Amino acid sequence: MQLPSPLHQILYNSASFFIKRDDLIDPFVSGNKWRKLKYILLDAAAKNKNHLVTFGGAYSNHLLAAAAAAAKHHLQVTAFVRGEEVNNPMLSLCKIFGMQLYFVDRESYKNKPRLYELHFGSNKAAYFIDEGGASEEATIGCTEIIDELTEQFDYIFCAAGTGTTAAGLLKGINQLALATQLHIVPVLKGGDFIKDEIFKYEKNLTKLHLHTDYHFGGYAKTTPELISFIKDFTSKTGVLIDPVYTGKMFYAINDLIESKQISKDAKILAIHTGGLFGILGMIDEFSKIS
Ligand SMILES: *Cc1c(COP(=O)(O)O)cnc(C)c1O
Repeated sequence: MQLPSPLHQILYNSASFFIKRDDLIDPFVSGNKWRKLKYILLDAAAKNKNHLVTFGGAYSNHLLAAAAAAAKHHLQVTAFVRGEEVNNPMLSLCKIFGMQLYFVDRESYKNKPRLYELHFGSNKAAYFIDEGGASEEATIGCTEIIDELTEQFDYIFCAAGTGTTAAGLLKGINQLALATQLHIVPVLKGGDFIKDEIFKYEKNLTKLHLHTDYHFGGYAKTTPELISFIKDFTSKTGVLIDPVYTGKMFYAINDLIESKQISKDAKILAIHTGGLFGILGMIDEFSKIS
């Protein structure tokens, strides 16, 4: 575990900005998934639970993080995977770390507490972890990203799926009364819902800005433009980014600077939330570009 995660300065398209390299915390328990699991695992340990039970899609970074973290802490781990039984490199990695997989149809998957109750209701060792690790504990882990900063920034950028990480960042900014503005790039279509998600954990939203137009068609959707951007960015900076989360965030930062919506003289920090194995789910998209 590399903590606090390093801060790197990069130059891209003649703009300079900083990256909080949470992707370097651990290759598998990567980025915000490590932040989110930290206090969840402490809570499980305090309650003497040694069997983690969680949920995710077939390319979920959270599942791989949970599998690797469980192995490291000598815990059993089971995941309910959304959809029909499949095999892919991500799930194979989960299995290597010892995760037991149950595939469930999309309808049953919707009611996670019920699935848990049905299969683990009477299991005293079992511990429920929501999809993506979403929880109050997860937000507390994410506030520590802010606590680790040793300098001030005008803007902090982060990608959002559920908004739990964003909520933790905002909590951290508010707790320290920083002047920093938080810029969130939802990776799903209709990303305005993120505001309500964040509000569940943090009531003061004055420093929050959402950029909802960088979803590229929706969750895990890409376009040739996004794929080309990722290749250009990675080849010019040496910082690998993925098409599901960080690629969309860095695209947004670059676009907002180019269109002068934010000044290139501003001091910008981007959170690299990790999740690079997500690339495995889209490897064909990358083989199409030269
Ligand atoms: C899961 C994930 C996110 C989204 O985090 P939320 O807390 O759900 O908003 C962002 N980036 C990466 C790389 C992820 O794996």
